[in-house]
Amino acid sequence: MFNQKHILVVDDNEINREMLEMMLSEEYDIITAENGQEALDILRNSSVEISIILLDIIMPVMDGYAFLDEIKKDDELSLIPVIVMTQADAVEDEIAALTHGATDYVRKPYTIQVVKHRVASIINLRETAAMVNQFMYDRLTGMYTKEYFYKKVREILDENPDTNYAIACSNIENFKFYNDVFGRKTGDKLLIEAANVFRREAGPDAVCCRYAADRFLAFAESENEETVSIRLNNAISDVRMELLEDMIVDVGVYNITDRGVTIEQMCDRVFLAVDSIKGVYDRNVVIYNDELRNRLLREKSITEAVETAMEEEQFAVYFQPKYDLKTGEMVGAEALARWIHPEWGFMSPGEFIPLFEKNGFIKKFDEYIRDVTCRKIREWIEKGYSMVPVSVNVSRANVYSARFADGFCKMMKKYNLDPMYLHIEITESAYTENVEQIVSAVKNLRENGFRIELDDFGQGYSSLSVLSEMPLDVMKLDMGFVRSNLDRDDDNGIIGDVVNMAHRMSMKVVAEGVETLEQANQLEAMGCDFAQGYYFSRPVSADDFEKLLIERKCIK
Ligand code: C2E
Ligand code: CA
Ligand code: CA
Repeated sequence: MFNQKHILVVDDNEINREMLEMMLSEEYDIITAENGQEALDILRNSSVEISIILLDIIMPVMDGYAFLDEIKKDDELSLIPVIVMTQADAVEDEIAALTHGATDYVRKPYTIQVVKHRVASIINLRETAAMVNQFMYDRLTGMYTKEYFYKKVREILDENPDTNYAIACSNIENFKFYNDVFGRKTGDKLLIEAANVFRREAGPDAVCCRYAADRFLAFAESENEETVSIRLNNAISDVRMELLEDMIVDVGVYNITDRGVTIEQMCDRVFLAVDSIKGVYDRNVVIYNDELRNRLLREKSITEAVETAMEEEQFAVYFQPKYDLKTGEMVGAEALARWIHPEWGFMSPGEFIPLFEKNGFIKKFDEYIRDVTCRKIREWIEKGYSMVPVSVNVSRANVYSARFADGFCKMMKKYNLDPMYLHIEITESAYTENVEQIVSAVKNLRENGFRIELDDFGQGYSSLSVLSEMPLDVMKLDMGFVRSNLDRDDDNGIIGDVVNMAHRMSMKVVAEGVETLEQANQLEAMGCDFAQGYYFSRPVSADDFEKLLIERKCIK
């Protein structure tokens, strides 16, 4: 029969073996051995799973006691129940067998019913126990399973209403990478080690479990937030040292302040916390609080709202004009993204752009803004206005794409535009990573007739030597850089120096965030060419920008 359980009968007496086989073979599959040694060989080498062993005591080569001693040494074999077969009057044998680890005994001569019952009930018992075990412990690490963890934590919380507790969770960053590179076996070994370190550092009183692949949870008493995080911080450096030096382990902690929620929900808070520092390399421990919760919930809902926003055209492009400081003439504009959400209202790009960069949506998004901008430029040219170049911002995440320049060229074809109308703003910090790639992207764009503006200069990232290699057209001085240097009476020189340097490199200079006439005058005196800021105009809608184009009036 399919799925029949296997019984190993170990007896040197052939008649005994045959008798047992006769009694049991209807329900079980019988495997036989003539002595302890042969039985051991079968257990070690055969692939079938033995449910129970029926064992004679007195046998040549290896007797029953020696056999029992042997299997006790083996973690897996020792789990198989053994029924010892003894002579009717040999009470001492029975006691000795039990002390050697036998599960039970039956007396010879056999009574069919007794043998059948014992075998069935012991197999049954063991299976139930194994199931409970399987449910309670994770097979790889020996830690509790999450189901058992939930149950246990709930019990402890209910029994100790006045004690403070915390739940902590570890997360190995890029664990999948280690698994792929070193193979699954090594990955498993790493996990077992990590589990051991985690368990040890969590302390002897902690309840630990393996939640999922590389996530371990610990539930323990916490005096205050500090003690928990300090201890965990130490734990992390230990984990790192003992495993791989460059492995990054993050830990999230939730101090249980609200016992009204389920343990699953408590764990979700821990995960929220730990996931919030994924990829943040200067922080490895984070403690959950409501502020974090609200921030993450908001981030999550923003991310989820994106597709609909795109479909419903909730994104708009605003335009902020740039002016020539000498003549007061409008010389260009910057396209700035706006999100007007039906419920949340106006949202700042400073809030959603970084999220789009994180979730990869930024590529599609920048393309969309670029498309809308080009469509508008085409429309305004058709209407016969004297058009100024409009710059679009590109996230540095997109600059590294091999087809970066292609996208811009295609857009020019689509709207039949001269590339002189579209400037490209690339933020200063982009020039610090993958220098070669960006130099070649910028060169490519310029060969195709586009003008490149270096955005946010003065935030302190660029290396001047890189800039000198790069064919750039305009340098935009960061708002903060302009303000802090204009404010310092003694040190007005630096802006002048930067302007001179830019001019030597054949770049024009735009100052951002100019809010007063005084600032505009100072900047002009320092040789700055253009300015953009609330003093001249806030970013305005396409319709309002169209009015500015019609007027093209001088600000001066
Ligand atoms: P940014 O490129 O440095 O843009 C200038 C920011 O300064 C804009 O903020 C603008 O509204 C603001 N601003 C202009 N004049 C003044 C002023 O006189 N005073 C003050 N206090 N602020 C002024 P905004 O529109 O909130 O954009 C923030 C950032 O979001 C932008 O910084 C840019 O990095 C990014 N961004 C905006 N649109 C896009 C886009 O379509 N794609 C990408 N990748 N990034 C974008
Ligand atoms: Ca910009
Ligand atoms: Ca800027």
